[in-house]
Amino acid sequence: MKIITDKYELQEFTKNTTKSIGFVPTMGALHEGHISLIKKARAENEIVIVSIFVNPTQFLAGEDFSKYPKRDIADKKICELAGVDVVFMPDISMMYGDDEVTIKAPNVRGFILDGFTRPTHFDGVLQIVLKLFNLVRPTNAYFGRKDAQQVILIKQMVENLFLPINIIDCPLIRDLNGLALSSRNAYLSDDEKKEALKISASLQNATKLIVGGNFNIDAIKTAMLETLKDVDVEYIEMVSQELKSIKQIELKNTIILVAVKIGSTRLIDNLWI
Ligand code: AMP
Repeated sequence: MKIITDKYELQEFTKNTTKSIGFVPTMGALHEGHISLIKKARAENEIVIVSIFVNPTQFLAGEDFSKYPKRDIADKKICELAGVDVVFMPDISMMYGDDEVTIKAPNVRGFILDGFTRPTHFDGVLQIVLKLFNLVRPTNAYFGRKDAQQVILIKQMVENLFLPINIIDCPLIRDLNGLALSSRNAYLSDDEKKEALKISASLQNATKLIVGGNFNIDAIKTAMLETLKDVDVEYIEMVSQELKSIKQIELKNTIILVAVKIGSTRLIDNLWI
């Protein structure tokens, strides 16, 4: 496995291959969620490239950029064991200059849900993903449904900017208790982890109602809020799988999204129905 820190070296590597490239962009502190993406990329491509870069432009002032978990040695080991060919680990100056051309998230879909509470977050996400795509020139790029709005906006960017890349969305991976895996779970105390289980419990509650034939959004929200009693809920929303508003649950075309704060840690979770 090659570790590359220089963008020109990466570009040289990807320019000189005619093989299919599967690309998994990450911010590191890798867990089973990331590994599931890497495994799928490994199964479907001749070359697998993983990037590890904590992207400053997607964090808002006051967010956790400076304390975001870093586990470079463990991450490299995980990549090696998963059969990755190249890990790209640039530093910030390698990826950004000053006074840059920027990308803007779409006005509506980029500024609802997470884009509403974290304005400019998706501008930063799209900026770094486009830069990475240009360096890696992947055949297929793998993203988790854990970040539902993110993968939908990336698909839109690829369509709007005519990028010749297949975006593959992968299932959300949970721990045995149901907690959606996230690098930010490392911030949680044991008590907070228990509290965080209310998030997946609320989604299970929603599933039960829907399986029982209840497609009413308000009723489902109310039931979810009951399960999330005493939790600081930022939003619970139900939208179509294109992030459009819906009047009631539409089977095979709905995402239920939840964002909460547990202590000072912001967590998101969702369910695609
Ligand atoms: P991150 O390192 O948080 O930027 O995530 C890198 C990629 O891994 C993104 O495409 C995420 O959606 C995906 N990912 C993170 N957590 C999970 C999870 N629990 N299940 C599936 N994919 C995930």
